[in-house]
Amino acid sequence: MSDSYMNSDDPIVMLRDVRKSFGSHLVLAGVDMEAHRGEVTAIIGRSGSGKSTALRCIDRLEVVDSGQISVCGRRVDDPNVDLKALRLDVGIVFQSYNLFPHLTIEENIMLAPRAAKGVDKAQARELAQSVLAKVGLSEKAKAYPEQLSGGQQQRVAIARSLAMQPKVMLFDEVTSALDPQLTGEVLKVIEELAAAGMTMVMVTHEMAFARRVADKVVFMHSGRVWEHGDASILTDPQTPELQQFVHSDL
Ligand code: ADP
Ligand code: MG
Repeated sequence: MSDSYMNSDDPIVMLRDVRKSFGSHLVLAGVDMEAHRGEVTAIIGRSGSGKSTALRCIDRLEVVDSGQISVCGRRVDDPNVDLKALRLDVGIVFQSYNLFPHLTIEENIMLAPRAAKGVDKAQARELAQSVLAKVGLSEKAKAYPEQLSGGQQQRVAIARSLAMQPKVMLFDEVTSALDPQLTGEVLKVIEELAAAGMTMVMVTHEMAFARRVADKVVFMHSGRVWEHGDASILTDPQTPELQQFVHSDL
């Protein structure tokens, strides 16, 4: 929240006993998680285990029923949380990239810094250039989304998020809609962000990627963190559920 906070070793993202139901369906049954500065956390688990819901709660796209969530020291479960400030700290990228088709790549990226931060046009354009360079698409600034491949569009979506200079990036299966070759180029961008020290929490099905890049792996099952640890839990799972999950993925 404050600069003094940002100098401490407190977690960037923290979930404590987070519970959430949709109707009578208990989707998060007491989730605990912590992500520290510069760490890459990979959330894995079967479809329906609550991964996306947990991620969405961090950005308050879903409101928890009980438990605590904080991002950079700001309590997200507080009904009076400053949503604008929260969303300046948190970048989120989904499977669907949702670029505006009638705007160029550069214009798509300039939009949020202009609207949410009041950045002037020249600065916003510079910012767009710098984030496009980070995702290897400098030459596409004047192109329109439909002229780009799915992988390139997803890289633009990541660049658009980076342009807001978030303190943490959340990724929800950003490569699931892409074929393997395009998946590779998007994962490469994420890996470069990790190497540059970006704090990231990502839901992913890419187990090889998780093994290589994640500092922490969180296996969710039935709305709970069933197993967590470093990437070695993927090679040496302790619970039958994770064993089964890892093997079904081979
Ligand atoms: P995952 O990302 O691990 O596949 P989700 O968090 O998307 O799991 O969903 C967990 C469960 O919550 C699923 O059974 C899903 O159908 C249900 N769910 C998710 N979002 C909603 C919603 N907005 N309304 C009702 N049920 C939902
Ligand atoms: Mg999901």
